[in-house]
Amino acid sequence: MYLNRRSIEKEASFDGIGIHSGRPVTIIFRPAACLAGIRFFRLDLDGFEVPVKPCYLAHTNRATALCRDGIRILTPEHVMASLAALGITDINIDITGEELPIADGSAKPFLDVLKSCIPVDFASRVEPIRLDAPLRVQEGDASIVIIPSESMQFSYHYEALSSLVGVQDISLRHLSDFEKEIASARTFGFIHEIEALKAAGLAKGGSVDTALVIGDDDYINKPRFENECARHKLLDLVGDLWVLGRPILGDIRASKSGHATSMALILEIEALI
Ligand SMILES: [Zn+2]
Repeated sequence: MYLNRRSIEKEASFDGIGIHSGRPVTIIFRPAACLAGIRFFRLDLDGFEVPVKPCYLAHTNRATALCRDGIRILTPEHVMASLAALGITDINIDITGEELPIADGSAKPFLDVLKSCIPVDFASRVEPIRLDAPLRVQEGDASIVIIPSESMQFSYHYEALSSLVGVQDISLRHLSDFEKEIASARTFGFIHEIEALKAAGLAKGGSVDTALVIGDDDYINKPRFENECARHKLLDLVGDLWVLGRPILGDIRASKSGHATSMALILEIEALI
């Protein structure tokens, strides 16, 4: 668990395409002052600032989004998970469009770039979130429960209708294991879903280069882990919860949850602290 607020020492950029728009986009990680928080700056809109805060979370279909005065930042969750893994609380992120690059569908490329920026501690401490009692959010058959604890740990239970994918479980006892266990797990999609999304003008950047693609009888490209789907869902959860900007002292247990459940949980936590 990270104890001090943290930024980066030097800047670095990353180019890619958005998974939904299919458009080229560049992000630039820059050092920020202590207590500045995590902030996006839309370079295509005169540097319009969108801070990463629960009040700017927006509803979308399948991904996380931030929105301030109608200006959006889409799919920040894999970068956010990398920031969480490194304990980075204060950073400026310039972006040339609204949707972050998808990279290979995982957090690993962002984690590598951020490590090359040399994370650096401030003297100021991070105050973790402590809950007095267990907290549970439920939406249909999706749920996230937090049991108060002395450290932050995660587990995720995933179930797919596809017998190929089946039931998958994963847990992460320490964020220090994120790089090895979770970071390279890719976003995934079932081939019939991807075709339907493409027909609707979405997932234009979705391919075997940017996601794990699951066919009816077999994987279209090779999984990196036998439970890659559960690992990626845990990655998204870690990224979503870092919108709070500080660690939660709790055992965080999620089952079949997605971004909407994460968002409901974040708003519940905000109301308590
Ligand atoms: Zn994801």
